[in-house]
Amino acid sequence: MRLILLGPPGSGKGTQAQRLVQRYGIAQLSTGEMLRAAVAAQTPVGLKAKDIMASGGLVPDEIVIGIISDRLDQPDAAKGFILDGFPRTVPQAEALDELLKKKHMRLDAVIELRVNESALLQRVENRVAQMRARGEDVRVDDTPEVLTKRLASYRSLTEPLIHYYSERRKLLTVDGMMTIEHVTREIRRILTAIGAVEAKAKKAAVAKRIAKGAKKGAKTAARKASKPAARGARASRKGTKALGKAGKPAFKGAKTASRKAAASSKARGAGKTRKAAKKVTKKRAKA
Ligand code: ADP
Repeated sequence: MRLILLGPPGSGKGTQAQRLVQRYGIAQLSTGEMLRAAVAAQTPVGLKAKDIMASGGLVPDEIVIGIISDRLDQPDAAKGFILDGFPRTVPQAEALDELLKKKHMRLDAVIELRVNESALLQRVENRVAQMRARGEDVRVDDTPEVLTKRLASYRSLTEPLIHYYSERRKLLTVDGMMTIEHVTREIRRILTAIGAVEAKAKKAAVAKRIAKGAKKGAKTAARKASKPAARGARASRKGTKALGKAGKPAFKGAKTASRKAAASSKARGAGKTRKAAKKVTKKRAKA
């Protein structure tokens, strides 16, 4: 599974990325973390990035693209990854497309965590307080002034990626204002709906639903009807991917397909009954 998490600072990308790592055993590729490590180790990249990061600006594209390209080649990324904090600009997204193409990798989805900006400052303040309580070093860019700058750069440089990925039918939006647990569950649900995870279980569930619908009608008719229904469900699953919205349509599509199958066989049954009833009425009239 290959994902991008998109959202402003404080939207919960890091938290959700960690949960995805734990559940699916994929790698978290956070450019922020990598850059902070480079700053701490005083590598040439770190030295270049240090002041830019402290002031809330963006590190030059070529630096982060280079870091990501190397990171994608590490063995732990082969199983799948979540990009957190990258891409952050349209040129970075274009470079990522190129990189993935070269490495024969395909992106499954871009998950946007949508949050009210008014809540972000409070969230970051809470994060700072918690880090202090744990005796951890607080990020130098987690101050109200720098956060304002980070938010402004998100709005002007990163937000256009929402359009970029929605045009490419990759974007899935999740309400990031829900509790951490709810957001996790919603992400899991949409990943299942687009077939990125637990595809087998989903297929089995769809088949079961179709079979249920078919039982209601006449057996022969239902057997015939279940084929187009299955095709409908498959097509609608594709539709969800294409649509790029929270995954509901796939589920609905499967339901509709099975409901249609049941309805058509029922209708056929009803037609036969009506004909038989007409015959009896005619006979009676003759008599
Ligand atoms: P945030 O919580 O603001 O999303 P991150 O930990 O992702 O923070 O990043 C911290 C800082 O690292 C950013 O403000 C920026 O200076 C730098 N940075 C991280 N990722 C990128 C990137 N893809 N492009 C440019 N700069 C980046």
